[in-house]
Amino acid sequence: MHELSIMQGVVELCEQHSGGRPVLAVTLQIGALSGVVPEALEFCFEAVTKGSLLEGARLEIERIEATGYCSECGILSRIDTYFDSCPSCGALSLTLRTGEEMRVKDLEVE
Ligand SMILES: [Zn+2]
Repeated sequence: MHELSIMQGVVELCEQHSGGRPVLAVTLQIGALSGVVPEALEFCFEAVTKGSLLEGARLEIERIEATGYCSECGILSRIDTYFDSCPSCGALSLTLRTGEEMRVKDLEVE
């Protein structure tokens, strides 16, 4: 379960940025193609934050849908996998615009 090590990284990052103050809430952005399972992050959040500045903090997860840009017809469309074709013209050369996000968007400190 690599979400555990991801969450540990998030905690470290938040502690570095909180200036030593307790963290009340953290907002993460998780892309649909990031390979990270939001439920698994939520599941290990409490255990990972125990004893840290994030203990008791609220975890918000924003899911970012994956979108691909078609250079053939100039349309940006929602996709489900890396191998989706353009829903408009069928081209296979979509450029991924969003969907791989795995980042801390916001941090609320006391
Ligand atoms: Zn197209």
